[in-house]
Amino acid sequence: MVRKPAHPVSGAIRGYLALICYFLLMRKTASQPENLFGKTLEELEEECLSAGLPRFRGIQLFYWLYNRGVTDFEACDNLPKTLRTELSQRHAIIHPEVTAEQRSADGTRKFLFTLADGRQVESVLIPSESEEEGQPKRLTVCVSTQVGCPLDCKFCATASMKRKRNLAPGEIVGQYLGVQHRSERRITNLVFMGMGEPLLNYDAVMKAVDIMTHEKTGGLAHSHITLSTAGLVDGIRRMADDGRKIKLAVSLHATTDDLRQRLMPINRKWPLADILEAVEYYYRKTRRRITYEYILFDGLNDGDSDVRRLVKLARRVPSKINIIPFHPIDNAWPEGIPLQLAPTPRPRIEAFARQLRDNNVTVMLRSSSGKDIDAACGQLAVRHGG
Ligand code: SF4
Repeated sequence: MVRKPAHPVSGAIRGYLALICYFLLMRKTASQPENLFGKTLEELEEECLSAGLPRFRGIQLFYWLYNRGVTDFEACDNLPKTLRTELSQRHAIIHPEVTAEQRSADGTRKFLFTLADGRQVESVLIPSESEEEGQPKRLTVCVSTQVGCPLDCKFCATASMKRKRNLAPGEIVGQYLGVQHRSERRITNLVFMGMGEPLLNYDAVMKAVDIMTHEKTGGLAHSHITLSTAGLVDGIRRMADDGRKIKLAVSLHATTDDLRQRLMPINRKWPLADILEAVEYYYRKTRRRITYEYILFDGLNDGDSDVRRLVKLARRVPSKINIIPFHPIDNAWPEGIPLQLAPTPRPRIEAFARQLRDNNVTVMLRSSSGKDIDAACGQLAVRHGG
């Protein structure tokens, strides 16, 4: 077969196009250094190996990023000077930045983080309300996993922002480190209970868990991390199969499908029966106790029949129920069921908890942490424009 000679003009065009592509690529690389903050140890090792560096440089970088919290490669003084210069030219260390803070009289602190693209999320630092016997006093940080949230829960300020985007692992780890940096005491516990549904951002959340629990970060114990979901059945099952030993909390807030789907539209897709089946599956696989979150709304879900249904439901697997007083929000939903949402009066809250305890259900009665600040999920970020 006779090969047709390449046309000299098309060869020149190809060369010209290749040159343009090269310059565009170089410009992109030069203007957008890759952020290393948020990479796991394995990813950093991989980066080093592919750049012809020994694996242990990845371990050193991991330590500097998450244990020492450096924001400048020049501070990594056990890396050769030439490597530090090269890293600064091609990479960056970008943390979310604290741009507002509110302090409550009860010690709760709320932080507004601004991300590299200008979006905002919030984290809350909550000192423990009671000391468990033999345990050091807890200091819990509640972090966000999404900017906004698509799930439309009717009692939640974040829902009014809708979903903007998922957070990257570094934006999740950055909340934990940023809050730790501003706290005199060591953070002992972390809950994924801030803005967003964590199971909708599963991979980034789990990468953040891997970073924050790694022995080299001197970080958190798996058993001190809790992921709270609105009841995403596929995500609960995935968590059960996952092998990471973090704890599961399910935001229940109602004991009938009728009320639950008015409060939490996701219940139409995954009704209570499906959630409870997934929870049983989770327990069979992990043997870890489940927490149910239950916000009390006056006259809606705080009656004797609710207690009876809650007792039945709580007995299916070892569990505890966190009773949470409702923080009214003023800027979420102007019509429908949100207009009926009011906090249950304190005496009824206490009676509700007592009735559960009388039926041998483990109950944790949360106080109104941060009542005098925008402590309900999403309120501070919504106020600042998200
Ligand atoms: S309560 Fe949680 S899951 Fe529901 S809308 Fe708010 S952030 Fe999303």
